[in-house]
Formats: sequence, structure tokens, C-alpha cells
Amino acid sequence: MPHILIVEDEAAIADTLVYALQAEGFATCWLSLGGAALERLAGEPFDLVILDVGLPDIGGFEVCKRLRRFSEVPLIFLTARSEEVDRVVGLEIGADDYVVKPFSPREVAARVKAILKRTAPRPLAGEGRPPAAATLRIDGQRYQAHYHDQLLNLTRHEFRLLQTLHGQPERVFSREQLLDALGVAAAAGYERSIDSHIKSLRAKLRQVAASAEPIQTHRGLGYSYNPER
Ligand code: CA
Repeated sequence: MPHILIVEDEAAIADTLVYALQAEGFATCWLSLGGAALERLAGEPFDLVILDVGLPDIGGFEVCKRLRRFSEVPLIFLTARSEEVDRVVGLEIGADDYVVKPFSPREVAARVKAILKRTAPRPLAGEGRPPAAATLRIDGQRYQAHYHDQLLNLTRHEFRLLQTLHGQPERVFSREQLLDALGVAAAAGYERSIDSHIKSLRAKLRQVAASAEPIQTHRGLGYSYNPER
């Protein structure tokens, strides 16, 4: 059952959303403050967030910016303002959709469904290859990776790197390709940041299985994931 977090300070609006979403089979959680929402999101996976722009403590845009430092959970903004500029700002800082009040709760529920469908994990490229050995399981929707059945505590970038490498076992990815997978524009100096992300990722894998070294360095080329190592 997909779990939706609603962050909205007006109880009447939150109630209509809770009702409409539960009627569609979603589990809901309602919070009225941005700070509390960030805390909750840091500790618990949600499938989607509905976020009011006008919150009494931290504005919705700021909440979204802070959220994007650690999570790519799909997000819909709610706002009383209809200016185009808000819409653009909202989408630029990482929202998936935008709903202007007053709205129809059923329409919001329909948009939630559409976004979840769009963001559901897709089969990765590199067709024809069996998935890497089940020593590593990646859940792209919940941003979780289990290695030897242990949940890894990864940063967003570490998760993306691992997901990318693991998606095409033994393929050598250049640093530039990996930056691309992180959604970071290649620029002088940035490529070295891949090395430090890989270093901390390896350390986390090693904490689970000390003798395995599934991420291989290819001198002058880049990195690959090899499930046999
Ligand atoms: Ca509000």
C-alpha cells in the first residue's frame, strides 16, 4: 500500500485529502509543520509527499529544497497562489507536480496515481543480462539497498552510484557517465568527487562483507560493479 505524507497546516484541506487518498487505497500520514515533515522524512520512507507551499514554520519551497538534499521522493506542491512563476520555481526545485487551491481532492488522488506510475522502478538498461546476484538488492522506489540482506545507510549520491553500477554488472562507467547518473553537470573538479563517493560506498559495503570488493577500479577508465568479487 503506497504511503503518502501530507504536509498542510489547514486541517479541513488535509482532511479532504486524507479521505480522497484513503478511498483510493493509499495509506496517509498528516503533519502540519515543515520542520516536523523533514524530520519524519529523514527517518521513514514515503512513496510520495504532498506539500503545502504556505506553511507556518518553514515555507514549502524551502522544505522541498532541504528534502532534496537527502531524498528524491516524488512530491506535489499545493498552493493558494496561481502565478506561473511559482509553478516554475516549484518544478525547478524538484517537485513532480503542482496543484492550485481550491482543488478537487479526487483530481489530486488521480495525479498521485499518475506520478507513482511514472516513478515506479523501470527495468534497467543492459537488457538480456540477468540481474546481479541477489547479494545486492536495490529498491529504486524506496531508495533502499540491501547488501547480504542488510540495509545500507547510503547518501543519495552513493545510492545512485550503486544503482547505476549494479544495473549493468561488469560494464565500466567513466566518471563522467557516473556524474551524469547523479544528475550533476560534469565540470572541472567534480569528477574527483565521484572517487570520494565511491570510497565511502566501498567502506559501507566492506562493513557488511569485509572480504568482498564488488566495485572495481579500472585505471584511467572508471568503475564497474562485479557481483563475483
Ligand atoms: Ca497553508
